[in-house]
Amino acid sequence: MKKNIVILGGGFCGLGVARRLGKKFAGSSAKEKEYQIILIDKETVHVYTSDLYEISTAYNREITSACLTALEDSVCINIGEALGKIKVNFMHDKITEIDTRKKRIHLTRNGQLPYEYLVIALGSNTNYYSIPGLEENAMPLKKLKDAMALHCEIDQFFRIRKEMKSNDPVHFVTGGGGATGVEFTCKLKGYIEKLSEKYEFDPKIVDISIIQAGPEFIGIGEKPSRIAIKRFNDLGIKYRINTFIKKYDGKSITLKDEKTGETILRPADILIWTGGIKVNPLLKDGELEVNSNLECKNNPGVYAGGDNAIIYDGKGSPVPKIGQLAVQEAGIIAHNIRADITGGKRKTFHPLIKGYIIPLGETNYMYSKNGFAITGIIPFLLRRLLDIYYFSRYMPLGTAIFRIFHKTKIFKTQ
Ligand SMILES: Cc1cc2nc3c(=O)[nH]c(=O)nc-3n(C[C@H](O)[C@H](O)[C@H](O)COP(=O)(O)OP(=O)(O)OC[C@H]3O[C@@H](n4cnc5c(N)ncnc54)[C@H](O)[C@@H]3O)c2cc1C
Repeated sequence: MKKNIVILGGGFCGLGVARRLGKKFAGSSAKEKEYQIILIDKETVHVYTSDLYEISTAYNREITSACLTALEDSVCINIGEALGKIKVNFMHDKITEIDTRKKRIHLTRNGQLPYEYLVIALGSNTNYYSIPGLEENAMPLKKLKDAMALHCEIDQFFRIRKEMKSNDPVHFVTGGGGATGVEFTCKLKGYIEKLSEKYEFDPKIVDISIIQAGPEFIGIGEKPSRIAIKRFNDLGIKYRINTFIKKYDGKSITLKDEKTGETILRPADILIWTGGIKVNPLLKDGELEVNSNLECKNNPGVYAGGDNAIIYDGKGSPVPKIGQLAVQEAGIIAHNIRADITGGKRKTFHPLIKGYIIPLGETNYMYSKNGFAITGIIPFLLRRLLDIYYFSRYMPLGTAIFRIFHKTKIFKTQ
């Protein structure tokens, strides 16, 4: 019987660990031959979250099952195909419990699975912070199903209005001015314009606003925030900073300006919530704290990375929960598990943020790093190159290039 290295979650971190570890085990030594690698995910696909805002706002003349499938496919990488010939067994199953005391994983279909080494990379969920009415009435933008639901909901909203011959003003509010909120809201503007042709309404009756709790948009510095605000002004998007959402009943939203203490009531027909994440509910004690080798504190042989881990940089600050770091963490975890097995030297994790690319509607993108920022088509092209680079890890380069060109066409609003 082989001993198991079990990887939980086929997202940015988990799939990255599986691929790298599987490759490292290719020329297996006697020690490595004692192990098999098992990757578990409840989905059969890995979701490229960076494009979820595109899915939610991609224009379709007619919403058919074929166009919905094309949209889903554009951001999904089949996990089995991504692993290809790499020595990893993929198990499509839902994890229901992680028992680190007995070193066992409980699964919906496959019962219990023992492990020798474990990687926990289960990602995160939307956090509604117990704000009254938010979870019941707002639409999140976190998972693939959220983006698909938004896509259909927005279209259907205007279709019903046309059927009812309604010309009442419409209010869209984005709650949360981080990267996801900003990119979604900027793209929404163009999407509404396309829908106004399809459903014959005046786009001027649609009021779009974005609410940010903190003092800056995006949260990566003053300059990127200023650029986002300029873009909002150009697009006619209203915005507020230092403002908290206190309540949402499906029709109106209650806000509180933290600076003035003023309470504001605003209409909100659709509230898109991008304001926070929380750890996967399987981790009952919260996020997993790891050491500099990304091994869980007090739990030898258990590693964690991605959104479900608290990882500190060399200066003692927690690193942001972003895909580009989850991928880097995957490399360290794969290396260190192999080092544990073969007696090699472990590596320490040094986060390297290569910058942020923030879409601001159509091909207008921003690249920002350490307070520096540029906008225009160059960051857009850079983003497409990075997309190709990421996809080519899991498929031949030609297929990756084709997929990125194809999805760019699918996402276009004009
Ligand atoms: C809309 C949006 C846009 C983003 N854009 C960017 C961006 O442009 N750049 C960037 O760097 N980061 C971006 N991020 C952040 C990035 O997506 C996350 O930081 C990253 O996905 C974290 O990787 P992960 O491996 O921890 O989790 P995930 O990639 O979320 O993977 C977790 C996996 O665990 C599986 N899973 C969960 N629970 C179970 C269970 N019970 N049983 C079995 N499987 C389970 C899930 O199906 C999933 O495949 C974005 C996030 C969102 C929501």
